[in-house]
Amino acid sequence: MQQQALKDFAQAMTNFFGGTHRRPTWRKRGQGEGFRIVAVKAGDVRRVSRNAGEVKVPKVGWVRFRWSRAVPGGGVKSYRITRDAAGRWHVAFAAIPQPIPAPGTGEVVGVDRGVAVSAALSTGELLNAPALRDTEKTRLLRLERKLARARRGSNRRATVKATIAKLKAREADRRKDWVEKTSTGLARRFDVIAVEDLKITGMTRSARGTLAAPGRNVAQKAGLNRGILANGWGRLVARLEQKAPGRVQKINPRYTSQTCNACRHIAGESRESQALFLCVACGHQANADINAACNIRDTAAGHAVAARGGPPLGGLVNREPQRDLLLVG
Ligand SMILES: [Zn+2]
Repeated sequence: MQQQALKDFAQAMTNFFGGTHRRPTWRKRGQGEGFRIVAVKAGDVRRVSRNAGEVKVPKVGWVRFRWSRAVPGGGVKSYRITRDAAGRWHVAFAAIPQPIPAPGTGEVVGVDRGVAVSAALSTGELLNAPALRDTEKTRLLRLERKLARARRGSNRRATVKATIAKLKAREADRRKDWVEKTSTGLARRFDVIAVEDLKITGMTRSARGTLAAPGRNVAQKAGLNRGILANGWGRLVARLEQKAPGRVQKINPRYTSQTCNACRHIAGESRESQALFLCVACGHQANADINAACNIRDTAAGHAVAARGGPPLGGLVNREPQRDLLLVG
């Protein structure tokens, strides 16, 4: 395990000097705790009952885990054991799942990310990522106040911290679940999924700017960024691209929120409010996010016509490795 950690570190430094990745950061207690085991022998992962399995961990022996989903066929080659902030242990086997087949209807859907809603579809659906309930939010706030009062290094502080982590993990789990279900649903229902080409990481970084070139509208941008991150937009797009490889089209988001979907008139004044679009030219009225989603769909459909004769959609193979999580019992 230690040898593997050293190898992983060497790879991280090579990536850093190669200019493709950032410098590896210092490890911190309680963050990203875990280790990786490679070159797993056949028979080192076995099922003991309907909902339990065992994995042989070097120097530890057989460790039971909850068989929460199918272990990939063709044998396990490597796995990772991690402990999250909420203190839960996971074992994840690396696997490349089959991409979701396209329905073959030729239907294109536009998806617009919003801050008020998580995602708006050109079909008129408004999707919302789950968050903490009001009672849970109140509880979180009270706990955070309690944490601020707790003395550093005290047992009380550790307990409060663990409780907060558990509550936040619950929220993260709900989001993740929503992203998985939504992305699978979209990949099954539509042949082409059009999204705005938003460089989320660039946006989150650009708000504050540097000392020499301070950012503009820092507070507003920070608010927008928080909205995007909280809604897990980046994760949704990433999962879509993995589940429907070659079927996700990224569209330049320019003017998508200011263009009338009925008459194509572009005017910032048409955006009546955050929620309402009212065209100043033709009087077309719609939900602002759905209007934008329709524009995204139409742009993608235009691209598809222009690109006719290219490789068939959905015929590409997903090369991105994905890890399936299994809970350790
Ligand atoms: Zn119009």
